[in-house]
Amino acid sequence: MKERLFGKTLPELQELVLGLGLPKFTARQITDWLYKKEISSIDEMTNLSKKTRDLLVEKFEFGLIQPTKVQESIDGTKKYLFPTVQNKFIETAMIPERDRKTVCVSSQVGCKMGCLFCFTAKQGFQGQLTAGEIVNQIKSIEEAGEVSNIVYMGMGEPFDNLEQVLKSIEILTAGWGFAMSPRRITVSTIGIIPGMLTFLEKSEAHLAVSLHTPFNDERQKLMPVQVAYPIEEVVAEIKRWDFGRQRRVSFEYIVFEGLNDSPQHVRELARLLDGLRCRINLIRFHPVPGTPLKSPGDNIIQNFKDQLNQKGILTTVRASRGQDIYAACGLLSTKEMNVGTK
Ligand code: SF4
Repeated sequence: MKERLFGKTLPELQELVLGLGLPKFTARQITDWLYKKEISSIDEMTNLSKKTRDLLVEKFEFGLIQPTKVQESIDGTKKYLFPTVQNKFIETAMIPERDRKTVCVSSQVGCKMGCLFCFTAKQGFQGQLTAGEIVNQIKSIEEAGEVSNIVYMGMGEPFDNLEQVLKSIEILTAGWGFAMSPRRITVSTIGIIPGMLTFLEKSEAHLAVSLHTPFNDERQKLMPVQVAYPIEEVVAEIKRWDFGRQRRVSFEYIVFEGLNDSPQHVRELARLLDGLRCRINLIRFHPVPGTPLKSPGDNIIQNFKDQLNQKGILTTVRASRGQDIYAACGLLSTKEMNVGTK
């Protein structure tokens, strides 16, 4: 299999062209074709000589991967199915709103984190994605030219694939890449502290942390990661960081009926997040086959939101999108799929 150019950084391409005996500036020409223009083959890189293109084609391919299936929800949300290099599948959601189009990308095939409420967790871990495969989820969708925001909230835990996730953010934000503002990118984690600290240091993108309950015993049952990285420690680390007006930290909070929406939860959340400029996003639980957890009514979510706001924690409710096509939060899964066996 030929190596893919799409997903390489400018320094990587510089090394590559020098190795082929080509001038260093060829790398910058290639990044323009890869990340700024609408082509999909090396032969279309018309400002490179025929000889250079032939040399590249011998060893490399452009490297875009087209989706094999697109589903559209009644609310306009789309779910794209992409094959991966390792013959697996991943899903990507595109959520249109009035003035924006947000793409929710996957960072792994499946996930090893085992969160009780998550459909991807039932799939288990099937492999890492490369930076190219992550960025391809933005480049190879029908809305590629209109994407306003990117969230790393699809399949997988981004900080369990830290290097490739950071590289994908570099490609999205560098001047030679997509030149997007890092303020349009949010990476969501369940709280892998070492990865989170590296991300905070090396990138300027927003951070979202899956919180779901402030109580240790409850969180352990919902999210095994709590044993290694308790939420108290995750928040303590975040408090040490400077979140000014530009860079945001938010907490994702799935509301489960009768489990994590009591006045005690409100009080404990207020204590945990005291002194931190942040926001809580409440998310309605979307029932996953095989879990005892239940979805709450709208009035319960609204009431919980009001209580948190009264305590001074800025809280919003995230609208459920794409539930009918299993594109909503926690519902992505490609467990049964392998290329060639569909
Ligand atoms: S919620 Fe995220 S981290 Fe937890 S199992 Fe699902 S994909 Fe993995």
